[in-house]
Amino acid sequence: MQFKRPDIIRPPSEWGSYFLPLTSGCSNNTCTFCSYYGSKLQTRPVDDIKAEIDALALFMKSSICLPTIPKVVYYVAQDWDGKKVFLQDGDALVYPFPKLREVLQYLNEKFPNLERVGIYATGQDILRRSVDELKDLKKLKLDIFYMGIESGANEVLQKVNKGVNYDQLVEAGRKTKEAGIILSVTTILGLGGVENSAKHTLETARILTDIDPGYVGALTLTLVPGTPLYEQSQRGEFHPISPFQSLEELRVIIENSSFTSCFFSSMHASNYLSVRGRLPQDKRRMLEKLEYVLAKEDNSLLRPEFMRGL
Ligand code: SF4
Repeated sequence: MQFKRPDIIRPPSEWGSYFLPLTSGCSNNTCTFCSYYGSKLQTRPVDDIKAEIDALALFMKSSICLPTIPKVVYYVAQDWDGKKVFLQDGDALVYPFPKLREVLQYLNEKFPNLERVGIYATGQDILRRSVDELKDLKKLKLDIFYMGIESGANEVLQKVNKGVNYDQLVEAGRKTKEAGIILSVTTILGLGGVENSAKHTLETARILTDIDPGYVGALTLTLVPGTPLYEQSQRGEFHPISPFQSLEELRVIIENSSFTSCFFSSMHASNYLSVRGRLPQDKRRMLEKLEYVLAKEDNSLLRPEFMRGL
């Protein structure tokens, strides 16, 4: 079957990267809230990836576009500075290890000024690799993993079919850090619904403290039509929290977590309010902003629903 190039879904901080697909879909396609739910994982042949890297190198050197290469390659490349690459798709770390090394080696060869490669990695993907293997990838400049934690509460992780538990996520985080790879994690406000809100937030604060990552991105649950969680909410079996409750969850997570040095943000377009700062030093300022908005309960202070994005 011919490889179907995935749409570009990327962490906000990868905006300047070149997006190179290794896979399409997600190998752990069971999470009931996610737009990758039920997606079929496709892995791309190495030769096909190398052909794209060759075409990219030619374009960067001589501005030559080959007719056999998809237009999106040149569209992304026109603003690229040759420094950062993001490997798609939903969990590209699932790509077979020897082939992943081969692709990284080729990227390094063709782009000697390459500074960093990033990738979405599930806890399961990371746990499958040894620390030595991860160190090997880091040497090839694969230097940031984006891992979705979503929640620290086992009950919530189980309900949304995340496929990993608290201890496994902590272990995946530990291995990443031991390999010297930057770890950026996400959590989802509202994932426990109204009933599990307190447990979700306190356990999320606890797992963030245990993992102690360099970056945390808080997202807010957006119910995606076609996903099981959306259907559950339509049937009245899942009760979403309100926008102000999502801010209260964010407040509790920030208040109850502690970090060595972490850039914590809710800048993602799914959130109702953008809060960011370095923890622990900016904790008070971030909490004060949240407390102010929570006290006002004024909708005009929130991002309007139509401007929220996934
Ligand atoms: S949340 Fe992550 S692991 Fe789960 S289906 Fe989506 S991309 Fe895959």
